[in-house]
Amino acid sequence: MSTEPVYYTDPYLVTLDAQVVRVLDCGLVLDRTIFYPEGGGQPGDRGWIDGVLVTGTVHRDGAIVHLMDSPSGFSVGQRVSLRLDWDHRFRFMRAHTAEHMIAGTFHSALGIPTVAIHLADDYLTVELDTHELDDESAWKVESLVNRAILEDHRVSAGVFTHDQAEALGLRRSIKVDGDCVRVVEIEGVDRIGCGGVHVSHTSQAGLVSYAGCEPIRSHVRTIWYYGDGAFSAARRERAAVKEASRLLSAQTGEIADAIRRLIDTKNVLSARLREAEARLARCQLESQGPVFTTDLPLEAFQKLASGARFFVTGTDAEGRVRWLLGGDAALFAAFKARFAEFGMRGGGKAPLWQGSAGCGCTELEALARSLILEDDNG
Ligand SMILES: [Zn+2]
Repeated sequence: MSTEPVYYTDPYLVTLDAQVVRVLDCGLVLDRTIFYPEGGGQPGDRGWIDGVLVTGTVHRDGAIVHLMDSPSGFSVGQRVSLRLDWDHRFRFMRAHTAEHMIAGTFHSALGIPTVAIHLADDYLTVELDTHELDDESAWKVESLVNRAILEDHRVSAGVFTHDQAEALGLRRSIKVDGDCVRVVEIEGVDRIGCGGVHVSHTSQAGLVSYAGCEPIRSHVRTIWYYGDGAFSAARRERAAVKEASRLLSAQTGEIADAIRRLIDTKNVLSARLREAEARLARCQLESQGPVFTTDLPLEAFQKLASGARFFVTGTDAEGRVRWLLGGDAALFAAFKARFAEFGMRGGGKAPLWQGSAGCGCTELEALARSLILEDDNG
């Protein structure tokens, strides 16, 4: 016996009495239910059966299973009371309705079909069969959808044969098998095959807000805030803008200019810092060379390699020991022969070689002294 889907007859029913038909290890099968089983991009319902938590609802082996951690306390034939987690259900009824309106409007206003959708807790995505989408087009759809939501169109569902359904002129041809198909119509806006649950009138979906898009495979995925999420997203973003405005001491409309000025200043200061470090590096090389440890970034020594023999070691921002060698290929070969002993890696070409080491700066210095100074003395 299959479960009677009362969630279709009355999607607004929050409580219902039913009878246990089967007790499985993972949950219960009932004679009828208000719990929507996961499908069509809509998550399965949660709630309680006789006060015991239902963590989800799924189709399994042809049955609708109310998932529970401990269903063993129930018995076949038992009368039980169902209560939906209405916040969860209503959120996805709104999301699903908003998704139909967005996808339907992209199709009717711009001729762009939808290839996939995803409904999340606080946003939804509609993946479009197009390579690019400009903001103006998305905003046009956003305005049309919000206008239609406020016009409070009726949302209804009916079951038809495949031929009848196709004759209705659906947005997308029907992919599911079976004799019949459920068609969901948002009066004057959209008509499509769908097994989900929706609000009864579009105004209940709440306004939607376009958040942006991203490329995915060869398509564009648009991201939308819906229902209460549209307002919480706006509040979050307003708070972020307010904080940026405070930190930059700039009015909202001047934030971008203030950031551009900061970036310009940073670039000028970075260039000056690099120059100063290069000058310091030259001083260190002249006063301390040819072997020493520095607290300057080793890049500061890179332009100083002019064939002179020197070895500088230092520690980078992550605490790794780095080294830089000025000299010819024969000198580098002498170092390379000792690489394994000191955990050294690296390379380059004359007159500059660089890399990292697995030992301390002092040990590296000792090695460098022995190789450079002995050679110089010899
Ligand atoms: Zn739907």
